[in-house]
Amino acid sequence: EVDWFSLASILFLLMFAPLIVYYFIMSCDQYQCSLIDPLVDLLTGNKHLSDIWNKTPTLTYRAAGIYTIWVAFQVVLYLFIPDFCHKFLPGYAGGVQEGAVTPAGMVNKYEINGLQAWIITHVLWFANASYFHWFSPTIIFDNWIPLLWCANVLGYAVSTFAMIKSYFFPTNAKDCKFTGNFFYDYMMGIEFNPRIGKWFDFKLFFNGRPGIVAWTLINLSYAAKQQELYGQVTNSMILVNVLQGIYVLDFFWNETWYLKTIDICHDHFGWYLGWGDCVWLPYLYTLQGLYLVYHPVQLCTAHAIGILMLGLVGYYIFRVTNHQKDLFRRTNGNCKIWGKKPEYIECSYMSADGTKYHSKLMTSGFWGWARHFNYTGDLMGSLAYCLTCGFEHILPYFYIVYMTILLTHRCIRDEHRCFSKYGKDWKRYTAAVPYRLIPGIF
Ligand code: NDP
Repeated sequence: EVDWFSLASILFLLMFAPLIVYYFIMSCDQYQCSLIDPLVDLLTGNKHLSDIWNKTPTLTYRAAGIYTIWVAFQVVLYLFIPDFCHKFLPGYAGGVQEGAVTPAGMVNKYEINGLQAWIITHVLWFANASYFHWFSPTIIFDNWIPLLWCANVLGYAVSTFAMIKSYFFPTNAKDCKFTGNFFYDYMMGIEFNPRIGKWFDFKLFFNGRPGIVAWTLINLSYAAKQQELYGQVTNSMILVNVLQGIYVLDFFWNETWYLKTIDICHDHFGWYLGWGDCVWLPYLYTLQGLYLVYHPVQLCTAHAIGILMLGLVGYYIFRVTNHQKDLFRRTNGNCKIWGKKPEYIECSYMSADGTKYHSKLMTSGFWGWARHFNYTGDLMGSLAYCLTCGFEHILPYFYIVYMTILLTHRCIRDEHRCFSKYGKDWKRYTAAVPYRLIPGIF
């Protein structure tokens, strides 16, 4: 069932999310990253929408070429180069891995080679920047708006294709979810794990690459632009590159763990993931670096160290909390959390085919402090990125506002799902761990 609030939110996002991305990027391009000035100009009649639109760079053959090569290159790395990193990197779990049990009781296999794709892409990037000089390292910044149109084309194409595919040739018909509401189905997706062939998994590909591999390259391109414009790279830009680089590398190092996160385990593949991964993520998660090209902030040492600490502590909490759950689930509770055997609540649930499964909800470690302390760590890291930009403009703070809404909503959505899944066992768990994000407060 689709309630009116979900439907209204979906319609709002379908209509306004592309405009929001455009507004942010345009305000940097035309208004030095001020979010207020375009509005003032429009409201006072100083400018018309058409003036802003006419000044916006259009789609170019060059951008279309760059984008096509980029996506094709990532497809090749994903599909045709089996992982070799797990053969020599101790502790790294790559290669063929199994995902979680789907609602219809299936277990999918995945070729985990994201770290390798990231390394190859970045080695080539640095080889080009320092040796081959095929293209300028500022190429991404220099084509940022034309590339936005390309990303939108791919985002809409892949979401629409996924919708059509779910009706005519679904990968696993039993895992499809039809609500009967066109907008909801388009946005939230129908197919659970759409695939082409045996290995091209839409969720794994679009979630990780091209968006997340690009994230660090986009930041490097911004740093190169600062160097070109001002003859130096500021410490704030270095902080953004380092902190977000750690986050991205963590994602690929733990790509196998990622198979057990909500995106892969529970969400269906629609516009939310398809368009979101192609457009929203690369354009809005990188706003701090973009802002710093227009406003090169040089932080005093104390501020820089404070921000670095906040980012690293946030990352530590994020990583350790995620690791604790992963270890607990992988070993079925036969492990040590903070040196002790973990405590947990036994629970059971039924899959769509009526099979009964057993599971455990841990109440030890960070999972005993709050039910989503991993989100809390993520939010601390997100705040650190924003703080690198100083306090002159609100644009770089979009990320922390967005992440707070996203993760709070995700927390509520996940708990709703867990309650439907585990019923009274979930109630016992929430009684044992009463707080969601901040112990004693929320
Ligand atoms: P979680 O990793 O918190 O996974 C939630 C699931 O874990 C629940 O549905 C439940 O699944 C299981 N679970 C819940 N409580 C327990 C427990 N006490 N013991 C054992 N298992 C439990 O959520 P996400 O997948 O959303 O997030 C993973 C990470 O990704 C987070 O750190 C988040 O911050 C990050 N993230 C980042 C985003 C970004 O855009 N930067 C976006 C989304 C997430 P089950 O049905 O198996 O019991």
